Amino acid sequence: LTYTRVWIPDPDHVWRAAEIVRDYKEGEPVLHLTLEDDTPLEYPVGPKSNPLPFLRNPDILVGENDLTALSYLHEPAVLHNLKVRFLEPNHIYTYCGIVLVAINPYEQLHIYGEEVIRAYSGQNMGDMDPHIFAVAEEAYKQMARDERNQSIIVSGESGAGKTVSAKYAMRFFATVGGSTSDTNVEEKVLASSPIMEAIGNAKTTRNDNSSRFGKYIEIGFNRQYRIIGANMRTYLLEKSRVVFQAEDERNYHIFYQLCASASLPEYKDLCLGNAEDFTFTSMGENIFIEGVNDAEDLEKTREAFTLLGIKEGNQSSIFKVIASILHLGNIEICSQRDGESCHVLVRHDLHLKHFCTLLGVELKQMEHWLCHRKLVTATETYVKNMSTKQAENARDALAKHIYARMFDWIVEHINKALHTSSKQHSFIGVLDIYGFETFEVNSFEQFCINYANEKLQQQFNSHVFKLEQEEYMKEQIPWTLIDFYDNQPCIDLIEARLGILDLLDEECKVPKGTDENWAQKLYKQHSVSAHFQKPRMSNVSFIIVHFADKVEYQSEGFLEKNRDTVYGEQINILKAISSQFQLVADLFHDKDDVAPPKSSRVNVRPAKSTPKAPNKEHKKTVGHQFRSSLHLLMETLNATTPHYVRCIKPNDLKEPFMFDSRRAVQQLRACGVLETIRISAAGYPSRLLQPVPVLLRSRDGLTDKELDHDMFQFGKTKIFFRAGQVAYLEKLRADRF
Ligand code: ADP
Ligand code: MG
Repeated sequence: LTYTRVWIPDPDHVWRAAEIVRDYKEGEPVLHLTLEDDTPLEYPVGPKSNPLPFLRNPDILVGENDLTALSYLHEPAVLHNLKVRFLEPNHIYTYCGIVLVAINPYEQLHIYGEEVIRAYSGQNMGDMDPHIFAVAEEAYKQMARDERNQSIIVSGESGAGKTVSAKYAMRFFATVGGSTSDTNVEEKVLASSPIMEAIGNAKTTRNDNSSRFGKYIEIGFNRQYRIIGANMRTYLLEKSRVVFQAEDERNYHIFYQLCASASLPEYKDLCLGNAEDFTFTSMGENIFIEGVNDAEDLEKTREAFTLLGIKEGNQSSIFKVIASILHLGNIEICSQRDGESCHVLVRHDLHLKHFCTLLGVELKQMEHWLCHRKLVTATETYVKNMSTKQAENARDALAKHIYARMFDWIVEHINKALHTSSKQHSFIGVLDIYGFETFEVNSFEQFCINYANEKLQQQFNSHVFKLEQEEYMKEQIPWTLIDFYDNQPCIDLIEARLGILDLLDEECKVPKGTDENWAQKLYKQHSVSAHFQKPRMSNVSFIIVHFADKVEYQSEGFLEKNRDTVYGEQINILKAISSQFQLVADLFHDKDDVAPPKSSRVNVRPAKSTPKAPNKEHKKTVGHQFRSSLHLLMETLNATTPHYVRCIKPNDLKEPFMFDSRRAVQQLRACGVLETIRISAAGYPSRLLQPVPVLLRSRDGLTDKELDHDMFQFGKTKIFFRAGQVAYLEKLRADRF
């Protein structure tokens, strides 16, 4: 068997098929190739030009539903195989070892019906076409078989299909694990999605329904593996969206849902109108989403609230809070003649009045503290005027704070509604969290997201490593050490003592701390790290060498975002709200003041992050909170059997079944699929459980020349093959008989 078919790099398609037409002797400077359209090509090779090209797989293997079955496992092979499956039989799912790769079809497929769920239920993963339901079934089965908690980790970039995949997985559990009693708990679990989407999703340029928070939802089962409840934790809500939206983007859906329903009698008190009339909903300059009816969606949100037992009274309080934020955003702050102070334009607009009425706060006080602040020094306390800019920033900070508190309140109440007193036997967690991201300008948000992905990749690596090691030991085959990419050094750079986050917190405490000074301290402390670089042309940005890519972060804004300051006096007004507005009053009570609800659950509950707003000194920084919540997440995930789903966005036009190879490769690198391939190719990814003698017979049919002895190992009960060898043997056998 001589392989003459190769892949060469191509600027447009990443890889291009070619064939070697003349024998090549080592050391020669060119390869003689023809391209697929028969154009001849002299392809330079050698240490100064290109390495020898990758070999193409035999056609018989192309289209395999598990990439690790390919004889040649490398980037072009992976890309080609995914593309062929996606474009020809329109298969969006492919396995890559233990990972399910899911490519967004941007088209409704008929592969998610209840009959399909039933078909996958109870089956073995290997017997069925790759599918999100197969992964869900595997988790469900292993939960029972191993008596162990499970998790499904879904990642990918914005618009890749994470939330849709997570929802299908949850629907699978709701169907196969539906409760036998008439509590409809599984319906409640599903009802959490429309609520979370209303308050946590928004239109962005990448995705009309983009989740702006991370979510880990644990579905609880009893001894009979029936759903009895659920619990959700959220990560890093994008608060800035409440007060700012880029062109063609929107604020959270709920604002538009309410505005679209403003004329209904029950919403009269909110004094809302068209979303175009409010600053916080109109900055993106397009308040519509194609195919979405916001007024109808509000009905769906309300139904979901009701299904979850959130009472009418609380629902209208929630809507009051939402409306109050819109009014807050419209409060006009004007400069005084001195240029150093400002005042609120009360006479001309009613927004301040509406804000105060809706929340039950005192207008005079609010008016005052919107434009003044209290300064406390060692010796005295005095009141200082704010400039217009400061006052606007403070107003926006307040709006973000109110929204975030309301978001947390809703999550807490969904959790209460999904909580059961019956004993939970085990759970399956579904994680839907942003994948690794790199933009033109990367800031604190990308830093946090990429840090989370660094941790998830480590979790993945160590899981794969452990699996392999356990298996080899059990089978007593020699363990050839695979060189794993260990990203602990990169994680240390971020989270260890005197790491990036520590230095950021330090700088936030320094009275005159600045983003620039922080960057300088980073250079000083970390230039030696292999994962840290100072860009040559900048004194304010820094580069982190992540597992997926190098990312340059702009230090500007890090301090402010990490501090997330809200002025204490404004919060104090909200804290003084009378109990007549119970929900609002609840929102602003320090959670630490209240005893935590007693939980009867056996599993660890999330430690709620408790931002202590008023006292800036004691407030935990955003980075600090995020680090703690990630630690908790990792602890949870490490105590489960993980299953991985990697979503790929095949093009940026949301075009059905269109495959942009360049974009796909970027994502395959970023989500670690190619790294997985590398690990697989280095070990023995295929193993056959067939009794050894049967295989020996098939081996006897082969000549020694055909069999490379490095390609397999005999274990006690299994034979281990290098990547692609099983398929290769199959092919030889097929050719022979
Ligand atoms: P993400 O959560 O990764 O940002 P979403 O799950 O919201 O992305 O998916 C974005 C959009 O892509 C969805 O609104 C839907 O239109 C489409 N989509 C994603 N997955 C599928 C799928 N399996 N089938 C059909 N359309 C899908
Ligand atoms: Mg999403």
